[in-house]
Order: sequence, then C-alpha cells, then structure tokens
Amino acid sequence: MNSSLDFQAVLDDIVHTLQPEAGREGKVASYIPALARVDAHRFGIALRTCDGHEAVAGDGDVPFSIQSISKLFSLTLAMRHMPEAALWARIGREPSGNPFNSLVQLESEQGKPRNPFINAGAIAVADRIVELYGADARGTLRGFLSHLAGEPIVFDEEVAASEAATGHRNLALAHFMKSFGKLDHPVAEVLDLYFHQCALALSCRQLARAASYLARDGAHPANADEQVVTERQARRINALMLTCGTYDAAGEFAFRIGLPCKSGVGGGIVAVVPDQLTLCVWSPALDATGNSHLGMKALELFVARTGLSVF
Ligand code: GLN
Repeated sequence: MNSSLDFQAVLDDIVHTLQPEAGREGKVASYIPALARVDAHRFGIALRTCDGHEAVAGDGDVPFSIQSISKLFSLTLAMRHMPEAALWARIGREPSGNPFNSLVQLESEQGKPRNPFINAGAIAVADRIVELYGADARGTLRGFLSHLAGEPIVFDEEVAASEAATGHRNLALAHFMKSFGKLDHPVAEVLDLYFHQCALALSCRQLARAASYLARDGAHPANADEQVVTERQARRINALMLTCGTYDAAGEFAFRIGLPCKSGVGGGIVAVVPDQLTLCVWSPALDATGNSHLGMKALELFVARTGLSVF
C-alpha cells in the first residue's frame, strides 16, 4: 500500500488544477433531456483504498447517471450466478475497435457480441440476468449495487423512460441478436433491464466504493469475509476493463493511464488499481468516443502524481 501518499491532497490538487477547464472541451450527451441539462462544469473525483480509506473532492458526492459503468456490475452479477463457460459461449472477450453502439460486427459474428462492455454485449448480459431472476431482474441488480455501495441506490426513472423512448439503436441491436437466436427472452423485457441499469444514479464516492471488490481480489468492499466474485474472476473483469472498458479508446486509455477503466456517457469513469484502490471521476462533457474528456485528463494527472499503474 502506498501509505505515504496523502490521497485527499492529491484529489484536492486535481480538482484545483482541472476545475477551471470543466466544460471547455467536449460535449455533454444530448440524446435525452435528463442528460442534456446536466451542467458541463461539474467535476467530481473520489477514491477508496483497499483498507477502506476514502477521499472525495469537487462534486464527488453528487449522484449522476452511471450509464455504461453499469455494465461492470451486470457482468459481475452474471459471473457470480451462472457457469462462466455458458456466459462466454454467448459473449466474446475481444476489443471491438468500434463505437459502443455499433452494429457492424454483429452480422459477421452471427449475433455474438465482441465483449460485454459494448451495448450489444451488455444487452446479451441483461438477457442472462432476466434468465436468472425473471421479473425480479431490475430489483436484483439494484439490490446488488446497494449491497456493494453500502447504502440504497435508486434508478432515475426519468432517465430510464427517456432511454426507452429514444433507444432505437439498442432496439435494433437487440432485435438483430434475437434474429440470430442469441437472446432467449423477449426484447422488451431484456431492454427494460438494460435501460434501467443505464439509469442507476450514483456519486463518485458510491462508485469508488461499489467497485472496490475489483481492487480487493473479489472481496466485498467492506467485508473481507465475503467474496463478491473469485480472485480469478476479479482479474478477468479488470482485464476486460483494460481492453474493452472505454470502447474504441481502450488503447489510448491503456497508453495514457495504464489502469483498467470503465466509462459511461453520463461522464463517469471508474478506474482500478489492483490491491490498492478504486477511483471514480465525473465530468459530463464527452470526447468523440463517448468518454469524459476531463475525466480522462484527471486520471492521467492522478497516475502522474501517484506513480500508480498496472504496468
Ligand atoms: N444508455 C447509453 C446507450 O445505451 C449508454 C451508452 C454508454 O454509456 N456508453 O447507448
């Protein structure tokens, strides 16, 4: 453990340095009103060390729409409760090199998504969660997040309804997969779960906490006696984050930051330093790949200041 580092001072310094740049570059997601009206000047950061120490700065306690960061938790839930071989028979583990909502590779790959972190892959995971929990799928996922974060987590129902009203691309992806026999459950049911998971609202602090099992060899964030997933599974999820967690920018993230990361179009990014800490940054303005522009800069600054890396 890097106990000599004063993490609170590091986070305060990052906010002090970058806050003036918030909203200057990039664009806030505008496909639904609830995201379009988020203030582009928001900037939050939080971390939790493996031994439970937390540091928070800027808007790190303000809840935001976690969007695709939810794919981390839905994958974890599926890995926890079904044989892994059956899961990976349906979903690949290769980076796509394409935008997160791309349809192009699905045709040549017979409806099998390239990885669980692009939309198609997360929809396939949602199908597995509906298989496992039926009508309780939403509640189970929400309960799982609450269990990890140590406090009740809620869906932003306005976001969920707008996702459903505007989610034509996701409907196309789901129906296309269904046409290849790759979804077992009705598209409407699977997407109801997917749209709700995108609409989970958490703060940076809650996300850093909830994802902490990924830095603790799979152990629950606050209870070392409970394995959320096995050590090997935690490593595998981290590997997927590094290679696929930020879509077609995954190479750039590995190059510039060197940590497993998972982003969402709400502007959040979760990063893991195995055996040390989890970190979450939030700034809503996105770059062309759908990743938070300032969030990426903040992570770069964090690794520069702390020397932390998986390499
Ligand atoms: N709700 C968004 C979608 O389904 C989530 C995408 C993302 O965060 N990258 O397209």
